[in-house]
Amino acid sequence: MTVTRLAVGEASRHMLAGIEALGSEEVPLMRALGRVLARDVVSPVSLPPWNNASMDGYAVRAEDVAAAGSREVGLRVIETIAAGTRGTRRVGAGEASRIMTGAPVPDGADSVIRVEDTESLAGSDIVIIRDARDAGRNVRPRGEDVAAGAVVLAAGTPIGAAHAGVLASVGCASPAVHRRPRVAILATGDELVPLERFAEVRTGDRIVSSNSYSLQAAVLAAGGEPVPLGIAPDDPAALARCLRKADGCDLVLTSGGVSVGDFDFTRNVVSALGGELSLWRVTMRPGAPLAYGRLFGVPWLGLPGNPVSALVTFELFARPLLRMLAGHRRPHRRAIRVTLSEDVHLAAPLTHFLRAVLTTAPDNSTHASLTGPQSSGILTSMAAADALVVVDGTHSTIAAGTVVTAIPLDADLMGGDRFPA
Ligand code: AMP
Ligand code: MG
Repeated sequence: MTVTRLAVGEASRHMLAGIEALGSEEVPLMRALGRVLARDVVSPVSLPPWNNASMDGYAVRAEDVAAAGSREVGLRVIETIAAGTRGTRRVGAGEASRIMTGAPVPDGADSVIRVEDTESLAGSDIVIIRDARDAGRNVRPRGEDVAAGAVVLAAGTPIGAAHAGVLASVGCASPAVHRRPRVAILATGDELVPLERFAEVRTGDRIVSSNSYSLQAAVLAAGGEPVPLGIAPDDPAALARCLRKADGCDLVLTSGGVSVGDFDFTRNVVSALGGELSLWRVTMRPGAPLAYGRLFGVPWLGLPGNPVSALVTFELFARPLLRMLAGHRRPHRRAIRVTLSEDVHLAAPLTHFLRAVLTTAPDNSTHASLTGPQSSGILTSMAAADALVVVDGTHSTIAAGTVVTAIPLDADLMGGDRFPA
């Protein structure tokens, strides 16, 4: 059964229901960035592995230095402990061991006096302690970061730089991560040529299949592995031949041919190949003709052909699908609240996704201005945008100053304040 004309939220829930993360594989740590842990990682060791000094200075007994500052405190230095070595002597009453940051604090000592608060007497083994502020301090206890046997990172955690460091520190050289989704990408349309045939664009007969490239890039940016299947003509038999090559992928994306034109064959071809259309049309702009179903046992998204529609529907539906498959538990983008900088006029009672640039006002509120005309054919309006503004078209005008939802796209491409400035 095919449901039709769902709202964006309903459509998203429909598509994500029952989607499970792909199987796992062990990959070398340095290839795991951006992937999602498939299993809990348990540390075989405590970290730090020993009580260690957090300062360069002298390991002492707190009671021996408590009076420093009010009277002269001198201690006898019994040895020097560098990072990477271990002391051989217990620190007794009236004694100190010179110690470097990271080195094991010797038995008997419970404090490290920073070197700045000390003075060593030339030609003697005595150190004078000038201040008692470090009494009982500057010792990092064994296991304060990680306890042996504890889960350090849980299944479902996306791996970033800090996670790579944690995994390395507990000896996890090949974490088990979910597979990267292989995403088939097929463009449809007799008017389309690949980049190599740009000469035909110059002579005025064709356009480049920009979706083939923008979607490959979007799949890569979302952590998927694009499997480009080229361009299918608007002919059911030829389209079926091209689409068969998607068999074996984890997600199938087509662009174009899902609307009501005389040559929009994608939905029929999916059915003819044994696929199933379960959703057609979402009450949104751009992207209303969107289709969804299953093909070759995996999710299929029939994205509209208009270049902005293809990318907006990718962001809202394909990216979350891809990220669910990749093991992410929160597959959607973050939403923020922004203030419209200008009046917005809407021509249809749909949920509109407007291309916008965000700026921060002196009062720290975020403001959104549109990137010019919003036709779904104007791809440059998307290239100029760092966010999609979400507005409801049941009111035909939304006034400047209204607070609305926005979805920031790639944060690195965004305007606004930077730090350090
Ligand atoms: P369709 O969804 O097939 O009706 O296409 C809608 C509009 O998007 C038409 O103007 C097409 O020429 C254009 N279009 C379709 N596919 C692509 C593509 N892969 N790259 C760029 N434009 C496209
Ligand atoms: Mg077409």
